[in-house]
Amino acid sequence: MPNRDLAFTREQLEAILEKYPTPFHIYDEKAIIDNARRFKNAFSWNQGFKEYFAVKATPNPFLLKILHKEGFGTDCSSLTELMLSEKCGIVGEDIMFSSNDTPPNEFQKAFELGAIINLDDINHIEFLDKHCGIPEVISFRYNPGKLRKGNFIIGHPEESKYGFTKDQLFDGYKLIREKGTKRFGLHTFIASNELDSQYFVDTATMLFYLAVELYQKIDIRLEFINLSGGIGIPYHPEDQPVNLENIGKGIQEAYDEKLSPNDLHPMKIFMECGRMITGPYGYLFSKVLHIKQIYKTHIGLDACMANLMRPALYNAYHHITVLNKENEPCTETYDVTGSLCENNDKFAINRKLPKIEIGDIVVIHDTGAHGHAMGFNYNGKLRSSELLLRENGDVVEIRRPETPDDYFVTLDFDKLNTFNV
Ligand SMILES: *Cc1c(COP(=O)(O)O)cnc(C)c1O
Repeated sequence: MPNRDLAFTREQLEAILEKYPTPFHIYDEKAIIDNARRFKNAFSWNQGFKEYFAVKATPNPFLLKILHKEGFGTDCSSLTELMLSEKCGIVGEDIMFSSNDTPPNEFQKAFELGAIINLDDINHIEFLDKHCGIPEVISFRYNPGKLRKGNFIIGHPEESKYGFTKDQLFDGYKLIREKGTKRFGLHTFIASNELDSQYFVDTATMLFYLAVELYQKIDIRLEFINLSGGIGIPYHPEDQPVNLENIGKGIQEAYDEKLSPNDLHPMKIFMECGRMITGPYGYLFSKVLHIKQIYKTHIGLDACMANLMRPALYNAYHHITVLNKENEPCTETYDVTGSLCENNDKFAINRKLPKIEIGDIVVIHDTGAHGHAMGFNYNGKLRSSELLLRENGDVVEIRRPETPDDYFVTLDFDKLNTFNV
């Protein structure tokens, strides 16, 4: 199996491990910035192109600030994500609010911040009107149903809870225009962690056709089309990364073919990628605490699925490097486990790895998105710190690890002491 590179020099690693206890996630700032620039560059043909980083992927304000400097906005879907964006100084139309099953106070916050609201349901037009009013700009999320196939993580569109049907889109734009909205956008999100470049070109093409239909049939002239997120990353060493330049070029060709001749140029292209922006540039470092031999050999780490849930949740592959054993042959077969009282708390099953000893440091790759963010406190487990390797080689703790006090902070023990049973 091919090796995966680490972003750190031997000296850097030693210094980091000396200073910061495992487990921790560490992100590589330079790689994230280079990648962000490459992404923007692939769409530089489109005036008004904007990426709204999906905050849920890595909701850390330090990363949001770095990405904002690169011209990215935020894609938020909850009150606290909106607040986080605001704390980073990212407000107004630098925020895309793509939520579903939305409580009124979340719409109110988005409204107050001047975010672009991307409605998930035609009934939310009245709901929004009732609780906030009608915004000047609106976007609707389209669910193409049987017209498109989804993929494993997100499921088939006709089974999913998201979006408007096509008929509802036509009714929705007419209704909200009557109520006073002046500027319109269209959104869809139907595949997650997709590695096939053509999928994104096909989705864009579908939306371009729809944009033409909306214009010709009901005179809705869209200002932007939001292709959302879902670009995959090569978790497995044998996966091929998507070719961003090809996606950009394919979408440009569809644009020139479908939109320009129908008087829909200029049209802004937006995206809301999370995973492909930061995913490959984060690593979870963990130490081997125990080696247990029963029917299989289990490598027990000091991290658990509270630190990285994807393997347990999706049976997802995350590559593992054993530090200082990168060049040793993978002669052993291990289950790499966490300490949760859940048998699916495993980072890898039947993984071929070099011979491991207690105290070894294990690096789990591609945790830069949907990693720390999905953490939880089940079994009283605490979430780890997040570190940032800066361009100049410095390491900054961008989130401290949780302590037991954090776990207990929502409980009132004084009340407990006077609580009679
Ligand atoms: C999760 C999500 C994204 C980002 O998905 P990635 O797979 O991380 O690119 C974008 N938009 C919406 C609405 C989402 O729910």
